[in-house]
Amino acid sequence: PADKDKSSSVAKIKVVVRKRPLNKKELAKNEEDIIDTHSNSLTVHETKLKVDLTQYLEKHEFVFDAVLNEEVTNDEVYRETVEPIVPIIFERTKATCFAYGQTGSGKTFTMKPLPLKASRDILRLMHHTYRNQGFQLFVSFFEIYGGKLYDLLNERKKLCMREDGKQQVCIVGLQEYQVADVENIKDLIERGSATRSTGTTGANEESSRSHAILQLAIKRSVDGNASKPPRLVGKLSFIDLAGSERGADTTDNDKQTRIEGAEINKSLLALKECIRALDNDQGHIPFRGSKLTEVLRDSFVGNSRTVMISCISPSSGSCEHTLNTLRYADRVK
Ligand code: ADP
Ligand code: MG
Repeated sequence: PADKDKSSSVAKIKVVVRKRPLNKKELAKNEEDIIDTHSNSLTVHETKLKVDLTQYLEKHEFVFDAVLNEEVTNDEVYRETVEPIVPIIFERTKATCFAYGQTGSGKTFTMKPLPLKASRDILRLMHHTYRNQGFQLFVSFFEIYGGKLYDLLNERKKLCMREDGKQQVCIVGLQEYQVADVENIKDLIERGSATRSTGTTGANEESSRSHAILQLAIKRSVDGNASKPPRLVGKLSFIDLAGSERGADTTDNDKQTRIEGAEINKSLLALKECIRALDNDQGHIPFRGSKLTEVLRDSFVGNSRTVMISCISPSSGSCEHTLNTLRYADRVK
């Protein structure tokens, strides 16, 4: 029956923009809010200079699936982005939610609460709708830094990736924890986030150069047989991407920064290409372009879902980065 298949009613790709409020630093510099939002479109008012140095305004209009303004709460972000996807994870769907944007635009603020809210709903479904059907929830949390993988739930242990020939990716040694209740997952998210931000030298500086990937996996024990390992049913990945401006660090004086910048640039370009290929039902998905897309390769095939949350600052001082973020989001759709 048609009502059994919920997946067909959920868009394959959804692009949402979230504008944060002006912060103290921006207010102190007398920077202005240059973004007008409407329900699914926005206007950027860019101040430009003529050759004779007089100022003029240029308007840039963009249309997306939804635009969330500075008054929208994290609960509302969840409802708009991830909530519709949760039920279809039980129907063998893989889904990915990305936060894209420059450092300080609100990616972590936006992403951090989402897995907790999703787990709460997943556990509720497991305990009610799918009661006694052998479903189990697992979480893993790792980061990609300079093209290498590190386990955020296991003391930042270095990991490597393997393909099993059946389009499944396996990250060797990645810790996966079974989640029994919301408190469980809350602790794990806190632990992983702390490991990420303290990185090697600490501070936001480090986290802006890494992609953090939290995965929720729904598994099911085969025929209620507890002695066999449970099989993967569906997966929901939450990705707090590296600061988009870091992809431009390819001419920095520091060699390490240059290498990392090039890697970030490569991964953000490859990500865009993979999502576009998915949207066009292209048979060939160019996931080999970067570590990020290789890790996500099983989420770029078949019946998968993608939500992109583009985070932007409202400030005149971030105009150029904001336009870059919006153009990237525009290209994904
Ligand atoms: P990013 O991860 O993109 O570098 P953060 O999520 O760390 O940015 O956000 C930068 C700062 O702005 C943080 O102090 C965060 O709490 C604040 N912030 C971001 N988005 C919002 C928002 N929508 N409402 C209120 N504060 C926000
Ligand atoms: Mg962050």
